Amino acid sequence: MKAFIFASCGLLLLTACSVTQKSKTNVKFAKNPVVAHRGAFKKNGFPENSIASLREAIRLKCTGSEFDVRMTADDSLIINHDPHFNKLEIEKTTYGELSQYRLSNGEKLPTLREYLLAGLEANDLTRLVLEIKPSGISKERGKQIAERSVALVKELNATSMTVYISFDYDILKKVIEVDSAASTQYLNGEKSPEQLKTDGIAGADYHFSVFKKNPDWIGQAKKYKLILNAWTVNDAETMDWLLKSGFDFITTNEPELLLEKTRK
Ligand code: MG
Repeated sequence: MKAFIFASCGLLLLTACSVTQKSKTNVKFAKNPVVAHRGAFKKNGFPENSIASLREAIRLKCTGSEFDVRMTADDSLIINHDPHFNKLEIEKTTYGELSQYRLSNGEKLPTLREYLLAGLEANDLTRLVLEIKPSGISKERGKQIAERSVALVKELNATSMTVYISFDYDILKKVIEVDSAASTQYLNGEKSPEQLKTDGIAGADYHFSVFKKNPDWIGQAKKYKLILNAWTVNDAETMDWLLKSGFDFITTNEPELLLEKTRK
């Protein structure tokens, strides 16, 4: 009898796990192009890159919420835009030392694990747009950050929810090398759509001025079925132009304004 109960519980647990897994592989993302840059932080005065700003982007039903990943001296992956946190150089400081300081809303400095777990909670609409910041120490360390980030995303079964972006082309190549299913977008703006396609990069996520200078890249990217994304678009006029041009994503500090436009 005992064995039967154990077996039944195991089966139930397995079924529950596979349902969770299924929900993350059949995700139907929000049908708008709005990516909240560093989360939806601005309107409510949340700190950039906080879990509060991520949750707000999910609550708003943005199609994506962007955040920046860096690695501490003792190899912890954490979320912060600048190379410094409270005047401490992240790459040269341990996580223990850094986490003595809080974000302005009282949150602790989020680890990538905590951030991804928060982003996976009750969320099937908002992609997790994970920017891997290059290392100031070495190119090699940047690639280690990529490898470790991908490993964690895989461990949490979050591959289908995640988009990887970086200014460092080699970091994106490393992401693809360790996970061919990973979706990547390049940020730096100097590679043509043809080059991105050749190298297996899924999208061009360039400053909007790059597309203004090279308007033919928009058509080329569409021809190669690349994802088109632009950063960081905060004014109504540029938003209108990118919407008219059929961009898949628009990365903004003003997600509420852009959402309003897409509802018209
Ligand atoms: Mg960023």
